[in-house]
Amino acid sequence: MNKDEKKRAVKQESHLKERRGILVLDFGGQYNQLIARRVRENHVYCEIHSYKTDMADIRGMEPIGIILTGGPNSCYEEGAPCVSPELFSLGVPVLGICYGAQLMMHVLGGKVGRAPVREYGRIEVSVSAASPLFADVHEKTICWMSHNDYIEQMAPGFISSACTDNCPVAAAEDPSRSLYAVQFHPEVLHTQEGQTMLKNFVLGICKADGSWKMDAFIQESIEAIRNKVGNGRALCALSGGVDSSVAAVLMARAVGRQVTCVFVDHGLLRKDEADQVEAIFGPTGNFGLTFIRVDARERFFARLKGVTDPEKKREIIGEEFIRVFEEEARKIGQVEALVQGTIYPDVVESGEGGESAVIKSHHNVGALPDHVDFKELIEPLRYLFKDEVREAGLALGIPHDLVFRQPFPGPGLGVRIVGEVTPEKVHIVQEADAIWREELSRGGWDKNVNQYFAALSNMRSVGVMGDERTYDYAVLLRAVKTVDFMTAESADIPWEIIGRATSRIVNEVPCVNRVLYDCTGKPPATIEWE
Ligand code: GLN
Repeated sequence: MNKDEKKRAVKQESHLKERRGILVLDFGGQYNQLIARRVRENHVYCEIHSYKTDMADIRGMEPIGIILTGGPNSCYEEGAPCVSPELFSLGVPVLGICYGAQLMMHVLGGKVGRAPVREYGRIEVSVSAASPLFADVHEKTICWMSHNDYIEQMAPGFISSACTDNCPVAAAEDPSRSLYAVQFHPEVLHTQEGQTMLKNFVLGICKADGSWKMDAFIQESIEAIRNKVGNGRALCALSGGVDSSVAAVLMARAVGRQVTCVFVDHGLLRKDEADQVEAIFGPTGNFGLTFIRVDARERFFARLKGVTDPEKKREIIGEEFIRVFEEEARKIGQVEALVQGTIYPDVVESGEGGESAVIKSHHNVGALPDHVDFKELIEPLRYLFKDEVREAGLALGIPHDLVFRQPFPGPGLGVRIVGEVTPEKVHIVQEADAIWREELSRGGWDKNVNQYFAALSNMRSVGVMGDERTYDYAVLLRAVKTVDFMTAESADIPWEIIGRATSRIVNEVPCVNRVLYDCTGKPPATIEWE
């Protein structure tokens, strides 16, 4: 199999049938991951697939319900994303959201056109209490709208079940065929009763049993891993982060000593982190893992020397990782499979799960790089969201602190140092970061923010210390609040804490004469600093 074939093979894999799940057909909307997220909150499994998925494949998946997402196009335009009318006569309930709603009308003989007034933001919607979609929803309810087009005329058989001042058909339905369409976005939390509506759809209308629970997932995964590994051996890339730790423990549960966990100390870890990881997962820890710590610091620094381009840095670090693993694998002997802690948002953000734009390159998601020795790639968490991974981690007995650890990027401090990465700069960031984390937790703020760290700008400037001129680096402090890590807000940390961290950093860390706090959100910035 070449790389593309491998990607395709992975893409078509689906667990919808055995998990009695909901199929989310992706038309490129911004909130598609959220739809899947909200469905799963009801303990109902779901998967996101492209709207281009063949009808035959969709029938094979046997979803118990289908949700059509929003999307940027206008369905009446030439070449706009479309689906076969057959989708609506499978006998499976369908919920169309925004573009999905418009498309349902368009395909079934209604009329969609440019709305005289576009609606954007929180809008009051009047809903019909008789609709099963709006059971337990207030008759006037605030919903999130984002559309330029509207349903001018419903398709035959539909009735309007909600309206706004500007939009006579804010929702439509044909209960006899179990077809539902909403112009607003129930998946966005600004839609105050959106969660109830989605719950009504998946549990009420699709009759999901709400049994998608972690222990079921763990049992299923253990069996799948055993089948895949057989009598062979696997190598697990363990970074000490939440995802790879959960993947490693799951692997060990499934195949015990047939899996070897390799922890690469690339020199870009946080202060003392390598020792902490070894203490938990190494021979003295209690997970019974076969654990190897590789000191690869020098070779990473050698390859990063002189490199300033952020994408290039990511590429080098990712590539060097694989090389280290291959070498370790050769030492162990015959190793067939490489295990990675890829999770669902990585898959979707890589543009693989559906139609969403590629946001950043995640190495090796769903496919091995071109030249590797491993025959197989095992990604046991490939279909889980972050909080589900955490839930699985707790169910597997991983300590709470580790499970709720803040995320740390694979390329480590390599993406928290602007410009060239050198051992000296890494040392500065490690020390500054340790102080910042210490001061935030002392002030009780580590629980209020979702990610916080220090980074190093490539900027040096003039300062004065002990009456002497200095020409040193500026350290950047970051702390953000976010629910899903797709968007984030800078946290308003009390000045007192920032002040205390600042004076400790300039006093205790060499080569720093300035400390800056980053007030930018994501977008327009990203959370990391590279
Ligand atoms: N592009 C369509 C419109 O403007 C649908 C928008 C959406 O799905 N958010 O109405």
